[in-house]
Amino acid sequence: MATTTHILGYPRIGEKRELKFALERYWRGDIEQSQLQQLGSDIRAQNWSLEQDAGLDFATVGDFAWYDHVLTTSLLLGHVPARHRDGNNNLDTLFKIARGQSQHNACCQGHAASDMTKWFNTNYHYIVPEFSAQDEFSVTWAQLFDEVQEAQKLGHSVKPVLLGPLSYLYLGKEVEQGFDRLTLLPKLLKAYQEILNKLVTLGVTWVQIDEPILALDLDSRWLTSFQPAYQALQCDLKLLLTTYFDSVTDVLDSIVELPVAGLHIDVQAASQQLEQVAQAIPEHWVLSVGAINGRNVWRANVSEWLERLQPLKRQFGQRLWVASSCSLLHSPVNLEHEAKFSQEVRSWFAFAKQKVAEVVLLGRALDGDEHAISQCKTYSQPIEKRKSADYVNKPAVQQRLNSISANLAQRSAAYPKRAHHQQEAIGLPLLPTTTIGSFPQTGEIRSLRSDFRTGKLAQDDYITAIKGHIEDAVKRQEALGLDVLVHGEPERNDMVEYFAELLSGFQTTQFGWVQSYGSRCVKPAIVVADIEREQPMTVGWSTYAQSLTDKPMKGMLTGPVTILCWTFPREDISRKTIAQQLALALRDEVNDLQQAGIDIIQIDEPAFREGLPLKQREHQAYLDWAVEAFRISASVAKAETQIHTHMCYSEFNEIIESVAAMDADVITIETSRSNMELLKAFEEFNYPNGIGPGVYDIHSPNIPTSEWIEALLRKAAEKIPVERLWVNPDCGLKTRNWSEVDASLANMITAAKVLRKEWQSE
Ligand code: GLN
Ligand code: ZN
Repeated sequence: MATTTHILGYPRIGEKRELKFALERYWRGDIEQSQLQQLGSDIRAQNWSLEQDAGLDFATVGDFAWYDHVLTTSLLLGHVPARHRDGNNNLDTLFKIARGQSQHNACCQGHAASDMTKWFNTNYHYIVPEFSAQDEFSVTWAQLFDEVQEAQKLGHSVKPVLLGPLSYLYLGKEVEQGFDRLTLLPKLLKAYQEILNKLVTLGVTWVQIDEPILALDLDSRWLTSFQPAYQALQCDLKLLLTTYFDSVTDVLDSIVELPVAGLHIDVQAASQQLEQVAQAIPEHWVLSVGAINGRNVWRANVSEWLERLQPLKRQFGQRLWVASSCSLLHSPVNLEHEAKFSQEVRSWFAFAKQKVAEVVLLGRALDGDEHAISQCKTYSQPIEKRKSADYVNKPAVQQRLNSISANLAQRSAAYPKRAHHQQEAIGLPLLPTTTIGSFPQTGEIRSLRSDFRTGKLAQDDYITAIKGHIEDAVKRQEALGLDVLVHGEPERNDMVEYFAELLSGFQTTQFGWVQSYGSRCVKPAIVVADIEREQPMTVGWSTYAQSLTDKPMKGMLTGPVTILCWTFPREDISRKTIAQQLALALRDEVNDLQQAGIDIIQIDEPAFREGLPLKQREHQAYLDWAVEAFRISASVAKAETQIHTHMCYSEFNEIIESVAAMDADVITIETSRSNMELLKAFEEFNYPNGIGPGVYDIHSPNIPTSEWIEALLRKAAEKIPVERLWVNPDCGLKTRNWSEVDASLANMITAAKVLRKEWQSE
């Protein structure tokens, strides 16, 4: 009655981001496609043998992607946007869809990339499929089948993974008015039938078919489409219907009617669904329990899981499978490379490779293997011990948390009064101009930081050099005539990691990379203990910058919600509690900044919206504590200290009330690409405080003309009273170069001056 063990997918980037580097070399034209292909096949071979050597029952195939797996699915289905079709879909076609014009292949000049968006509530992104009425699907891209054969040749027992037809459709968008992409389902299913039949001929028995949309609030049209769709997919294969990221109990009645052979559920994201699902599923189905967290870095408490799953094992026998909760693509690859962790710290974590071993261990223990059972105990001890470790639980932090009251989250005066005080203290012109914080991160700046990090550069020399860059940024801003200056963030590698390294309670990793999109990876820090600010983190840089100018210098902090969203959180306390700890630490920083004479402080919250839970009914609770956390950090500001926040995205409709409740004196947002359309949400809500709608897209090297910016500002002024309007780019300028920045900002300032003159005299 052996328990089957498997994972939903393994990281594809390689242990040291080999895929990233190879992709970028290929895009630059430095290596041949065959070399890139070879590297891909090496990574796959490595991953599969790791999975099978560790003792998993399957090697998961189809989790490899050259960019992201939704885009791979588009190619598999021969579903390529018309502008990128070139007769023979090949790897370059795929890259063109993802990146637009590729340097490697000049043919698609001017053909825009498809949109990219977040994969559910993770920090991984996918290329959005584009649907229109005349779309056809044909299975011409052989990657999946080739990889199945590749793995079989290596002697592996293969379980292919496929993104399910309904999730594929749902995650795309219509590019044609008045058309409903769900009407494409019958055509799409024909292609899926063909795929499944090919897998049958390859000797496959189980297919993992991912339908993560079942964990969303699905409307009935989508939900009722599952039954006929899965009827149409009947063949000589066993389908494991795979869900993750949240509970599926809302739709369980529909799920259990589907003609599939098993169900995978994520009991990390939604632990309470386990028993209910186990009760409800048909007698012949397999239940795959996603117990090992694919989205975080913590070592699993396998003993606890063993105890919880034992009754299910008795009930299900070999129909119980054990798995990762979701694909391990969301977790860093291999803990063995982290040379800087102490023994103790290391014993708290498991990255992808270690998670594979956890799945196997749990499976063996469930099968009654005595050795495995005792190993579960030893393995879980460090996690147990950690719960009460002094290092983790800091009485001072907890005391402060307990004393949080409504008062702490309340500015000393309401916005109109504050605005008045601030105007008296700071004295800004109509349509004040500013930037979002960062200036070009030149190669020189990056090597400074890396030389300092590796000890090549002494601290004093490093500080002097960074100060030089701050001075340069201040001079340029003065020359341009900006009203509110920034220091330019040359000392920051990343807006979250910078703070994580300075706050106590975090661990940063050396190689803990996780794919964000395509070749881009991020290296989130880990919250390991109660968070405390041990010393000021930004005051030195900001006051130095302020000392160089009479113009107001804006202090620059990353907000509590964004730090939380872009790190691996602890799992022994709630996200809300972590956000509160961060809020208190940042509050002290805000206070120190204002004491040091910094009158304007920006607290960035670009991740505010992405922290939303998947289920609508949980939104309000999140928004409430997220707003509170921001307010706790900001409310120490005196009435005359001006608090800014920044969010670089669109779609404020759903959260506008909460954004207003944050009560920042000024919010800067990304609006230029939507032609100020996004301001509608602010207009309709009658957003009461200051707003800086971004007037140019910082993602593009194009220099906006002053006329263009002027036109955008006129549009903005139709929606927002000019007295509350600020003028700034969409986001930070760190990815641009100085010549682009100087030219763009000069035009921005010209536009502001023209309108200032015009509107002042009215
Ligand atoms: N202050 C940050 C910067 O300018 C904000 C970045 C962001 O919004 N993601 O780089
Ligand atoms: Zn931004």
